Amino acid sequence: MSHVLDGVRYHESVLETVGRTPLVRLRAVARHCPPPVLAKLEFFNPGGSVKDRIGLAMVEAAERDGKLKPGGTIVECTSGNTGLGLAMVAAVKGYRAVFCMPDKVSSEKVYLLKAFGAEVLLSPTAVPPDSPDSYYSVARRVARERPGAFLTDQYNNPSNPRAHYLSTGPEIWEQTAGKITHFVCGMGTGGTISGTGRYLKEKNPGVKIVGADPVGSILKHYHETGQMSEARTYKIEGVGEDFIPGATDFSVVDRVISCNDRDGLNLTRRLAREEAIFVGGSAGMAAWVALAVAKDLPADALVVVLLPDTGERYLTKVHSDEWMRDNHLLDPAVTRVSDVLSGKGRKIPHLLTVSAGEPLRKALALVEQHDITQIPVLRGGNVVGTLFDSEILKRVLEDASVLDQPVESMMGDPLPVVKSDEPIGHVTRLLASRNPAVLVSDNGNVSGILTRFDMLQFIAGSE
Ligand code: PMP
Repeated sequence: MSHVLDGVRYHESVLETVGRTPLVRLRAVARHCPPPVLAKLEFFNPGGSVKDRIGLAMVEAAERDGKLKPGGTIVECTSGNTGLGLAMVAAVKGYRAVFCMPDKVSSEKVYLLKAFGAEVLLSPTAVPPDSPDSYYSVARRVARERPGAFLTDQYNNPSNPRAHYLSTGPEIWEQTAGKITHFVCGMGTGGTISGTGRYLKEKNPGVKIVGADPVGSILKHYHETGQMSEARTYKIEGVGEDFIPGATDFSVVDRVISCNDRDGLNLTRRLAREEAIFVGGSAGMAAWVALAVAKDLPADALVVVLLPDTGERYLTKVHSDEWMRDNHLLDPAVTRVSDVLSGKGRKIPHLLTVSAGEPLRKALALVEQHDITQIPVLRGGNVVGTLFDSEILKRVLEDASVLDQPVESMMGDPLPVVKSDEPIGHVTRLLASRNPAVLVSDNGNVSGILTRFDMLQFIAGSE
């Protein structure tokens, strides 16, 4: 909604700029899909996420019902985005805001809410929802104890799906001129999929509504069996649940497909690199499911996937190489030799070498000191051979005088050299054949060594 005054077009407040987000076609990442895959980019909302849509809807409904009065306090359990949507409404309308969230959320989200004047209470992630320490329980307690407080409760508030029924659904229907055949969407509270799905199904019952669920969440299993199951933790934020939210209407969901952290988060990174679409992990997960659906569809289908929020909230998580590596989430297909090298333990230097003319005694000292099994031998900066600890020990046991002979007299063939920016597939093949290790070169200089054990640790850690 915008206003025109004497030809001047403007919005009465930032809240009026929520919604009407664009659809953008996924190109590179959807290359193998016959139909177009269009992404609804919710980071165009002023708060950077889809949740701006429900903030205003829930507050206005509470005002209508007399549950929220001037000077009142808005309380919510939120992993950040709903909080921001509500914090904006609170700032514009003069309410106070208190948000309760699990401590796994990124610190960016916490700082952001505080910037809008809100109060943030963090609770441990790994406690059951009915524990008094869970962020759900803390929110209920704050709402009970503070005068004039109202728990918006996005998980059960009918204004949550209704906001999507009234905005997201109609927008997608109009933007696609009614040609949409599949709508793919992550599920947290289920508000987005339920409201949007209901609207689209009312317009055309043939539209398929596909939920995306992180591995570890119970929603897929519940949708398929009606049974609860045990939840496990996962890294993707804002989606998946360990309970069934009242805001989810499973009757409009045709199918739920799960996606693991590794696939969802690596696609999140590819969206930035290959499409310049900078989003959070739940968007990468939804996009991964959309591509899985689209690859088997005919060219005349039309897939729309909703990407919930901006990547700026996850600069120290999915968009950080270090965080991905530390959590063993980097995809081997896109992992470079340098990623494995820099992820190695820092206990010993990246490379220990001996010169061809040095005595064996020197090499033996390195083996003892650093517990290494092979040492590259250099002459004039070039790699000319390799010393193996088993060979050194055997020769010294046979004849102790070899300790004073130059290492070149007993070195084996040089190890293969790979470049640090090569994908690791080539290195894994070299190590799987005859080579116990490879040397890594950076701009022509040998700077590191990767052994079979280093590679195994990387692969085992990343499962
Ligand atoms: N992604 C992110 C980042 C979110 O914050 C949320 C909301 N929890 C969702 C996806 C899921 O949306 P909904 O709650 O409407 O199912």
